[in-house]
Amino acid sequence: MNIANLLERTATTYPALPSLAYGKEIVATYREFADQVAGLAGALRGKYGLDAGDRVALIMKNHPEYWIALLAVWRAGLVAVPVNAKLHISEFRYILENSDSRLAFATAELADQLTPLVNELPALDAIISVQDDSYQALKTEGPLALQDADPDDLAWLFYTSGTTGKPKGAMLSHRNLLTAVLSYFADVTAIEPGDAVIHAAPQTHGSGIYGLPLIAKAGIQVTPESGGFDPAETLELIANYPNSCFFFAPTMVHRLIGSPAFAGADISNLKVIVYGGGPMYEADIRRAIAAIGPKFVQIYGQGEAPMTITGLSAALIRDEGHPRRSEILASVGTERTDVEVRIFDENDRPLPIGEIGEIVARGDVVMQGYWKNPEATQETLRGGWLHTGDMGCLDADGFLTLKDRSKDMIISGGTNIYPREIEEALLTHPLVEEISVVGRPHADWGEEVVAFVVAKSGTLPTPEELDRHCLEHIARFKRPKEYFFIDELPKNNYGKVLKTDLREKLAG
Ligand code: AMP
Repeated sequence: MNIANLLERTATTYPALPSLAYGKEIVATYREFADQVAGLAGALRGKYGLDAGDRVALIMKNHPEYWIALLAVWRAGLVAVPVNAKLHISEFRYILENSDSRLAFATAELADQLTPLVNELPALDAIISVQDDSYQALKTEGPLALQDADPDDLAWLFYTSGTTGKPKGAMLSHRNLLTAVLSYFADVTAIEPGDAVIHAAPQTHGSGIYGLPLIAKAGIQVTPESGGFDPAETLELIANYPNSCFFFAPTMVHRLIGSPAFAGADISNLKVIVYGGGPMYEADIRRAIAAIGPKFVQIYGQGEAPMTITGLSAALIRDEGHPRRSEILASVGTERTDVEVRIFDENDRPLPIGEIGEIVARGDVVMQGYWKNPEATQETLRGGWLHTGDMGCLDADGFLTLKDRSKDMIISGGTNIYPREIEEALLTHPLVEEISVVGRPHADWGEEVVAFVVAKSGTLPTPEELDRHCLEHIARFKRPKEYFFIDELPKNNYGKVLKTDLREKLAG
């Protein structure tokens, strides 16, 4: 099944319901959405002469046209290459070239930057600005019927964030995306017609994939006018849209409840905040539940198995009386309905309950491999399991606890130390706002533990009191040997802390 079928079906059954919104304004019904998609698909195969399987990039700030372009690409039997709009022009160039994209849809300012690349990249025929009249005219070229797609046909090239080396294109099929949609209903929440997903996070990433379940069930895709995450605007949109749903990086949850606009805001419309993509510390999720109520679901996955590998359900997050409340909140939940998870040692042998090793997963949500990179595919998918590069352990109740990326693990005096445990401990200190722990090379020990601390505004915790706090919570040898107090942690465009930058800071 072509994933664009989701729209076709909903437009047939609910033609008059709202589908796309820009801020508080509804900009298309489902019939209008589907008609524009069919017209644009016609232009892609007709005017631009693209063939089935050709790649089309979407380099757009969050914008309602993203949905029209994305669905048109699929309807026409083409492959979408959604690209984070905050990347550098050299990264856009790399992704366009690596994917051999024939066209790119872009929001206005990005289109200006990208247009010179048409002369540099042989495969690239045009950059189409979705804010131009000529783009609107494409939708009237003559509709194209929904093209057939095999479940294993490629639908989405998902470029990894490339925190180590060049980004790689994870190949996601129509089956992978449909699995993500079905497992949303199985593990996250049901959707009713008229529910809204508000895209405060990039549509090219998790938030965008979580737009699809709403298309399947006649929900509304709301793009904030700011194109991103502004806590005050987000709160206004919640007040406007009944049953509003979100995908948030953990730092966004933190920023929402910490914003001055939060006090007194009406959040009764909020249906669910799905959080994931980076660590949510126990102290932070407890604070968030206290502020918002238990309207959370956690997911853990990666571009290679999007939406996702494990999940922590709303029911478990609500269960305050659970005897293992603490461990559960600090975990990333249990296997998703459609996924198997194991912990492997360095020789790919399964490890017993409680032992830490590499998290591996298999199921219909796992990518087909990396685009034009058979060596990385073979390495990552060896033995039929996705090797996530994340370290963790499973407990007897099936909960997965993430330690760290293998490359973030600290080895000191031959002992493995997982920064996350130290970060969890220090975050319970009342003066600590944010924290990141990394290893610093050490002549005798190999590495030693150091911490970068963002203190609560207006406070000045001392290394001695943080050290005392550690002694009360974690083993003596895991305490940071030095604390660096900084104004903010370096983060990438998805809000993930860049430990590589912190390590470079130390080296410099
Ligand atoms: P990406 O492919 O950019 O989505 O990054 C995926 C990586 O983010 C994973 O391999 C994890 O290291 C991290 N990650 C994703 N979800 C979570 C989560 N719920 N808790 C902690 N880390 C996460």
